[in-house]
Amino acid sequence: MTEQLIKTPTTHTSMNDASKKESPLLLDIENLSVTFGQGVRAFRAVDDVSLKITQGEVIAVVGESGSGKSVTMMALMGLLPPSATVRSKRVMFDDKDMLSMSAKEKRGIIGKDISMIFQNAMSCLNPSFTVEMQLGEVLRKHLGLRGSAVQTRILELLELVEMPDAKNRLKVYPHQLSGGMSQRVMIAMAIACEPKLLIADEPTTALDVTVQAQIMDLLNRLQREKQMAMILITHDLGLVAQNSRDVAVMYAGQVVETSTVPEIFQKPAHPYTEALLQAIPELAIGQDRLNSLPGVVPSQYDRPSGCLLSPRCPYKEPACEVPPPILDTPNGKVRCIHSDPSSRNSTSHTATLESQV
Ligand code: ADP
Ligand code: MG
Repeated sequence: MTEQLIKTPTTHTSMNDASKKESPLLLDIENLSVTFGQGVRAFRAVDDVSLKITQGEVIAVVGESGSGKSVTMMALMGLLPPSATVRSKRVMFDDKDMLSMSAKEKRGIIGKDISMIFQNAMSCLNPSFTVEMQLGEVLRKHLGLRGSAVQTRILELLELVEMPDAKNRLKVYPHQLSGGMSQRVMIAMAIACEPKLLIADEPTTALDVTVQAQIMDLLNRLQREKQMAMILITHDLGLVAQNSRDVAVMYAGQVVETSTVPEIFQKPAHPYTEALLQAIPELAIGQDRLNSLPGVVPSQYDRPSGCLLSPRCPYKEPACEVPPPILDTPNGKVRCIHSDPSSRNSTSHTATLESQV
């Protein structure tokens, strides 16, 4: 069930402010929430998420597993199951109001102007279809291509995604492809209609390190050449550093910090971002151990009433028992009362952080 929540503007501020950006706004999501189930069993997987992206821009959405990254994007794509209730104050794409448009109009946008590389990309390929059949279906359905135009475009796309020996891969089935090659087919399908926005959901997670780098290089090249906007979803801050300018950090269904890449690495404003950075091996050179926050992302049964990070946060104080305000930072916003690192009590920090090898 998808419904629009009509809300009067509240004190909520958007977590990334497009006013300072140069290009026209492409996607503007305001106060998006997703709840699974009903009544006492209802679970809010995405909570009041606002995201903006301008044309041709790359933003990264980062957060540990279960923080609501994929569900946010699936809500945008209209791909959630009927058990999901989606509410939003505003979803504008390319000056069109996605909340009020008909299902037919939406079908004209999803998969064409907005496309997504799914997290479990390899299992998204149909095992009984050849590469040619999978790509041909997208071209016929969304672009209405027929006959030899389909063949020509398929080959062009495979060459664009640098598929090795492209001509001889046309009749091949997914099980005959390596992980990297399957991902190239998925990328070819996603860019087949020259989308204005590409959502890449953990595009390299299942691949080995060398192939990961090749796939990220490919995505970056295509993004630049085609002037596509891209939302890069990842749990890996290392990928964020190399591949995007702006970043939104998600925790337990909320965007807790937005910032730019240099700022977030030098001066993380949210304790959760700080903890993510402390868990990056490259940044912990010289340390015996990687730091990590104790505990796990709250489940539907143990959701705190105030700040959602508070049970795990080393800076917790009584004021954290009410939901934190959204505050301005030099390059974005933060959902925390301890956003100024100098105001944090570092003694309790060292004492409370758990470590892991
Ligand atoms: P991420 O992509 O950040 O790892 P997800 O967006 O996939 O996290 O999931 C956010 C939360 O929503 C998780 O707790 C997950 O278990 C829950 N969730 C995702 N899909 C469903 C679903 N179809 N039904 C119920 N809960 C779901
Ligand atoms: Mg995910």
